Amino acid sequence: ATPTALMVGTGRGAQLGILVKGPEVLESTRRVDTVVLDKTGTVTTGEMAVTDVIVAGDTSFLRSSGSSGGSSEVETVLAWAAAVESGSEHPIGRAVMRRAEGLELPEVGEFTNLAGAGVRATIDGVPVSVTAPRDAVGEIGDELRTAIEDASAQGATPVVVSFRDVVAGVIVVADTVKPTSAAAIAELTRMGLRPVLLTGDNEGAARHVADLVGIDEVIADVRPEGKVEAVAALQARGRVVAMVGDGVNDAAALASADLGLAMGTGTDVAIEASDLTLVSGDLWAVVDAIALARKTLGTIK
Ligand code: ADP
Ligand code: MG
Repeated sequence: ATPTALMVGTGRGAQLGILVKGPEVLESTRRVDTVVLDKTGTVTTGEMAVTDVIVAGDTSFLRSSGSSGGSSEVETVLAWAAAVESGSEHPIGRAVMRRAEGLELPEVGEFTNLAGAGVRATIDGVPVSVTAPRDAVGEIGDELRTAIEDASAQGATPVVVSFRDVVAGVIVVADTVKPTSAAAIAELTRMGLRPVLLTGDNEGAARHVADLVGIDEVIADVRPEGKVEAVAALQARGRVVAMVGDGVNDAAALASADLGLAMGTGTDVAIEASDLTLVSGDLWAVVDAIALARKTLGTIK
């Protein structure tokens, strides 16, 4: 595939498809030698789908929770999770909501978005959370631990649903790589740039995606602060770092990188924190931006 010639313009760097914050951005774009890519919604489509719902072995707490009679335990856990996720813009939240279509969702209060960790809200005054396994509220039993490990090993993303301080179940979601990601990343590598995959998701899911798109270096299981630290660590080693991301969890890293590139399909917070916005949300635009900056400034590295 050939990237469409997206950009035109004079010193102001006006172009089609790549929105630039200011003219000085071109210089930092030219100097970039490392491209750090967020996984979910950046390398992948972020259109996640639920592939499995596993309920904890001892579900006596479900019956004492006053959950709607008649529905199965799986449906109860799914309905709680979807109710809590209804306040979230995250691909995981949208996947859980879609899977729960047709179920009656309880009303929620006091919603909190835990960026890079999950979501929390109250249902009938009881705290319910949907989070990464590392942020789970309560003890994860052996059975669910195994389900979490299996999902990660298969490249999927397990999240834990907790009710009060008891782990109620695990929901597994899976994502797909964008059709253009592998070719665009191969081109970045050909241009002498080093790609790094950076994600808050688990190591197994991260490696799976990295293998599919040809990235060797993976930094997984990091919180939003960890993304900033990863960028700083690369900079400390003398790298000039471009960070590409889409989420609330990427905003601080996008702002601290030498060049921040936001997916146009991403959150407003990510776009505001970035120097460049890639309208299409396609990684070919990263190739185009760097190629244009090198050409315009007359230095081909
Ligand atoms: P990424 O870096 O791949 O974009 P995030 O930093 O957004 O991932 O999320 C990291 C992890 O936090 C997810 O893999 C998931 O386990 C958990 N998480 C984030 N948001 C949610 C959510 N809305 N519901 C459940 N879990 C979430
Ligand atoms: Mg993301």
